[in-house]
Amino acid sequence: MADERFEIILTTDRTMMSNHHGKEFIGFMATGPPIGMPESLWMWIAAPKMKTDRLGRPWQAPYAMRKLEALLQDHGYKAAIIDPDHLHKHLDHAKILMLSHHDYFALCPPSSEWWLVTKREPVNARSFRRLMEKPEIRRAKRNGLKIIVGGPAGWQWLYKTDLWERWGVDTVVDGEGERIVLDLVEKVYSGEPLPRYVFVGPNDVPMIEEIPKIKHASVNGLVEIMRGCPRHCKFCSVTLRPLRYIPLEMIEEEMLVNVREGVKGGILHSEDVLLYGARGLRLNPDALIKLHKLARKHLETIAWSHASLAAIKNAEEEYGLISKLREIICEDGVQDYWGVEVGIETGSVKLAKKIMPAKAAPYPAEKWPDVVEDAFAIMHENNLIPAATLILGLPEEEPDDVVKTAELLDRLKPYRSLIVPMFFVPMGVLKDKDWFTTFKVSDEHIEVMRRCLWHSVRWAEEIIEKFYLKGWSKFI
Ligand code: SF4
Repeated sequence: MADERFEIILTTDRTMMSNHHGKEFIGFMATGPPIGMPESLWMWIAAPKMKTDRLGRPWQAPYAMRKLEALLQDHGYKAAIIDPDHLHKHLDHAKILMLSHHDYFALCPPSSEWWLVTKREPVNARSFRRLMEKPEIRRAKRNGLKIIVGGPAGWQWLYKTDLWERWGVDTVVDGEGERIVLDLVEKVYSGEPLPRYVFVGPNDVPMIEEIPKIKHASVNGLVEIMRGCPRHCKFCSVTLRPLRYIPLEMIEEEMLVNVREGVKGGILHSEDVLLYGARGLRLNPDALIKLHKLARKHLETIAWSHASLAAIKNAEEEYGLISKLREIICEDGVQDYWGVEVGIETGSVKLAKKIMPAKAAPYPAEKWPDVVEDAFAIMHENNLIPAATLILGLPEEEPDDVVKTAELLDRLKPYRSLIVPMFFVPMGVLKDKDWFTTFKVSDEHIEVMRRCLWHSVRWAEEIIEKFYLKGWSKFI
């Protein structure tokens, strides 16, 4: 029984602690409010419960939490990720509760956009609130439990100081946690006061050798291949992080952790998978081919998290690389397509030059709409299915910029893809509790949203019938 008592519990709410039926894309439903059905059914579709062991340790857990769990265990702490339904088994004797989330309060796109359009709070924020109000957490807090929150949405607590206070959160970590978290834990164990807020700047992020290897399965086999992005778009926080490539040996070990625990497919995670091993923005075909052969050797199915449209065009036109990677990925016929998220952001050259001058590189920013269309054509020919985002309401956006985006959407009609518009909501607006009622949506924005909807509805049918459900049927 002694080693079944964990002193540090890592957890999150159900919308994060789920593998979304093995389909990452279904997880997007957790960013919306329940529409046309009870919330419990919506939650079951978007974020079904995760299988756990007797102690409540989940089969699969969010990758970033697996990293912290491994780090703490490597340093001798009795730490474990616990499913939110099993917290009552542990919190009475735990010292620290650590929380992580992609979107604690539904302030990031696409949650914020659902909220704007429907005026209803998305289920991820509701689910997180239910977690924080759980009697076992409240009781443990009264008995001295320290609560540390972080993850990609750590910044959101700065706009929810009332809840920060009400739920007794001791420390908010904003940025990559591997370096700072051990200091915080030491402080708790030695009885020192915790800082209220820690910002992890570019100089405080962990080096490759400080990043631990996961010890247990990540959600849907996600494995990180690099961190950071060199394109420096003005609206993106990833750009603050320096570039680090994860060595192939470490990627392989993590893939094998997943496979051994029964997660046979994998998602290669990067802000731009095609920049793996790149020298600046110069692609490294050898590194990419080795990476994909490694993934093919160990995984049944392979997906990419994100790629840039400029790199897709450059990879195919200069090296024939998308076709080569397709041959590797689809080699044994188990899969005949793969998915990726891409960012169109805007169709306006004027706006692209102002806010994302390097997004089109190695092509000039003036060519951005052509880069987008060429990359879409390449993806279409190679069965690489993009879920693309556009950003509306960017700083300095004028009505003419939105018209240019609508025109670009017309050019993208022939290419198989889903296109999702998102709103850039300025941080200042988020401070207002009712921000989603005061934020103004223009007629041009509505026209772009309408064209995105028609585009996506038109292609969704083919994607679901020819690819998505066909692939799924092999596993059920
Ligand atoms: S290309 Fe994507 S990840 Fe990189 S800085 Fe721009 S928006 Fe961020």
